[in-house]
Amino acid sequence: DPAQKYDFIIVGGGTSGLVVANRLSEIKGVTVAVIEAGDSVFNNPNVTNVAGYGRAFGTHIDWAYQTENQKYAGGSKQIMRAGKAIGGTSTINGMSYTRAQSVQIDAWELFGNKGWNWGSLLPYYQKSEMFQIPSLNQISRGADYYITYHGENGPLKVGWPTEITNRTMLPMLDQTFNQLGVPFNRDVNGGSMVGLTSHPNTVNTKENVREDAARAYYWPYQNRSNLKIITNTLANRIIWSNDSNSEAVAVGVEVTNPHHGVETIYASKEVILSAGSLKSPVLLEVSGIGNPDILSTYNIPVKVNISTVGENLQDQTNNGLSFQGTEFWLGSPTFSVLPSANQIYGSNVTNVASYINSSMAEYAKVVSNSSKGAVQEANILAAFKLQYDLIFEAQVPFAEVVLLPIAGSFMSEYWPLLPFSRGSIHIKSANASAPASINPNYFMFKQDLDAQVDVAKFIRKAFATAPLSDFVAEEFAPGMDNLPDTASNSQWDDWVKMNCMCTKNSEGLEKVADNISDRSNFHPVGTASMLPRSRGGVVSPELRVYGTKNVRVVDASVLPFQLCGHLTSTLYAVAEKAADMIKKQYRL
Ligand code: FAD
Repeated sequence: DPAQKYDFIIVGGGTSGLVVANRLSEIKGVTVAVIEAGDSVFNNPNVTNVAGYGRAFGTHIDWAYQTENQKYAGGSKQIMRAGKAIGGTSTINGMSYTRAQSVQIDAWELFGNKGWNWGSLLPYYQKSEMFQIPSLNQISRGADYYITYHGENGPLKVGWPTEITNRTMLPMLDQTFNQLGVPFNRDVNGGSMVGLTSHPNTVNTKENVREDAARAYYWPYQNRSNLKIITNTLANRIIWSNDSNSEAVAVGVEVTNPHHGVETIYASKEVILSAGSLKSPVLLEVSGIGNPDILSTYNIPVKVNISTVGENLQDQTNNGLSFQGTEFWLGSPTFSVLPSANQIYGSNVTNVASYINSSMAEYAKVVSNSSKGAVQEANILAAFKLQYDLIFEAQVPFAEVVLLPIAGSFMSEYWPLLPFSRGSIHIKSANASAPASINPNYFMFKQDLDAQVDVAKFIRKAFATAPLSDFVAEEFAPGMDNLPDTASNSQWDDWVKMNCMCTKNSEGLEKVADNISDRSNFHPVGTASMLPRSRGGVVSPELRVYGTKNVRVVDASVLPFQLCGHLTSTLYAVAEKAADMIKKQYRL
C-alpha cells in the first residue's frame, strides 16, 4: 500500500523502541509506526514465567546471532541472544534491574555529550519506573530500598518476585562477604553500586509475571489510533530523498512483509532505528552509512562516511562455579555481589593497576589495527584511560557475582564488568537479513582473561568462608579434582577459555552444541556510539546519526561505554530522554 505514511517510523519494537513509540504517540495527531520482525509473546509461558530464564533460548523468539570464531577465547563461535518479539530482548532476559554507577553516566558528558550525566538521567530512570514496594515478608527475605531513588508512577513495574529465597540467606551472605571486605548495599539503584545486594527485577509483583517493554509500554496503549505496530515484518534499509541536501534525508523504510512482499513505508518526520546493538549498525551500513571500504565491497553507495559504524563493540564474558548445597532452597534468588577492584585484589591491586596502566597504549594500537584504522588510537586510548580511572580511582564495581541457591545446589554466575577487549559488527552482504560478521574479540587482552580467573578465585574463597562454607559441600564446577587450589594460572586460563558457560535451565547446565557456546553476558553496546564525531562517534547527543537530517538511533548501540548495571534500566531511561528531545525539536 503506497499510501502508508506516518510521522515517525521506529524500526524495532523492542526494549527501547516501544518507549519512544509510546511517548510520541501520547500526542494526538502524531502518527507512529513500529516495524517489528517478531510477534506478540504476551501469552508465551517461556516469557511470562518469572522462573523461566533460559527457556526462550533457541526458540523462534531468539535471534541467536552467531559470532565469528573467537580466536582469543578458545576458537569457538559464540551465540549472542536477542529477543525477536514485541518487547524485544526484554522478553527473554534475566529481568535484573540495576542501573549504573553515577560516574559512568557522568563520563558521557565528560566525553562531549552535553546534557548527559547522572543528574539529568535519574529523572528519566524514575519516569520509566513503577516501583512496587516490597511486602514485609519480602523485606524479611532481603528486599530493601531507598524510595527516593525510585519512581512510582511510570509504566515499568519493578520489584521482587513473590517468593524470595528463605530469610536466613541474606544475613548469612552478609556475614560472609563482610569478612571479604564487601559491605551490604541496601539499594544499588542510586548510583553507588558496590556491595552485596538483593536487587529488584522487572516483574509484576501482583501477578508474578515478567514485566517487559511490551507489557509496560505497548499493550496498555495498543488501541491508540495513531500508533501502529507492523509485526512479522523485516526492515531492509532506509530509503533516502533524491534531492541533493547537505544532510541525508530519510523518507521511509523498505520492508519485507509476509503479506505484501517488499514495500516502502514512508516517514514525514523521522526514521528511528531501535533494532538493537547487533542490528541497528547493520541497517546503517546497508543504507549507505558507514565505512566506505566496507560499503564498496558490497556495492552500496556511500550516503554518509562514518568509518566507526559497527566498531567499539563491547560485551562481557560470563562464567560460573557451582557447589553441592547442603540444604534444599526454595524461592527466587535475587542476590548479587558487586565488589570493587580493591575488594577483589586487596593489596595486590596496585600491581594489577600498574600492569593495565602500562599496557593501555599497546591495547589502543591493537584495537586500532584490528579495525584497520577505523578506530583512532588516540580515541580508544582516551576511552581506556577513562575505564582505568573508573576501575581504580572511582572504584566502580569490578565484577558482578550472582549468587544462586537453587534447589540442592548453590551456583555462582559471574562476569567482570569492564573488559578492555573491543570488537565490531559489520555486514557480509548488502542484505540486512543476512548474517553479519559479529566479532566481540573476547579475551583479546590477557588482562580480560586474568580478570575472569581472578574473580573465579575470589568466588572460591567466598564459598570457603564461614558461614557460607557451612551451606555448601563439594564444588561441582570447576571442581577441586579438575582445578585444585594449587592449579597454575595457565590451567585456570584454559578452564576459562574451554569452559562453555552453558545455559541455565531446569535441568541444570547444558551445552549448546559442540563448537558453539554462549559465554556472552549478552550486554553488547557501543556499535553506534554517542560521542563527538572527532572522537569516533556515530550519533550526536541528540542521538541523531551524523550527516543525516532525520535518522536517529535509540537502543543499546548508542551507549558509548559499558556499564556496571544490567542494561535495560538505562535503556528505558535513555529512550525516555530521547523521546523528550524529539518532542522538543518538533514542538510536539
Ligand atoms: P532489543 O530489545 O533487542 O530490541 C530490538 C528489536 O528490534 C527486537 O524486537 C527485534 O526483533 C527488532 N528487530 C531487529 N532487527 C529488525 C529488523 N530488521 N526489522 C524489524 N525489527 C527488527 N538486561 C537487564 O537489564 N537485566 C537482565 O537481567 C538482562 N539479562 C539478559 C539476558 C539475556 C539472555 C540477554 C540476551 C540480554 C540480557 N540483558 C539484561 C540485556 C538487555 O535485555 C538488552 O541489552 C536490551 O533488552 C536491549 O534493548 P534494545 O532496545 O537495544 O534492543
